[in-house]
Amino acid sequence: MSTIFQKIINRELPADIVYEDEICLAFRDINPVAPVHILVIPKKPIVAVGDATEDDAEILGHCLLTCTKVAHAEGLTDFRVISNSGAGAGQTVFHLHFHVVGGRSLTWPPG
Ligand code: 5GP
Repeated sequence: MSTIFQKIINRELPADIVYEDEICLAFRDINPVAPVHILVIPKKPIVAVGDATEDDAEILGHCLLTCTKVAHAEGLTDFRVISNSGAGAGQTVFHLHFHVVGGRSLTWPPG
């Protein structure tokens, strides 16, 4: 079954896209938890970080470098990258995504 994020990749659903290349897509989270909250997703439909394989190493690296690229494009020097892997970790959309969160003070540990 197609996820919401696959529909955004396919342009079947609208999104505020801030970056795109042949491997990944970055768009603003519909329910931001900080002034900057961007989701970076691979175009390949990997379910979660926990489902990625060695074959996905280049894609994962590219997505992480894209997290930095979009954070810097937003003017952030300090930011957080999060990927919830599995429902028990808070994942609600089962297409791998990295949250890039910043623009406010962030505490640790998260809730
Ligand atoms: P998760 O809980 O899986 O780690 O994160 C899913 C994220 O996707 C949430 O932060 C949620 O706000 C965001 N989200 C869910 N549906 C949509 C949507 O249709 N468009 C956008 N831009 N973000 C979405």
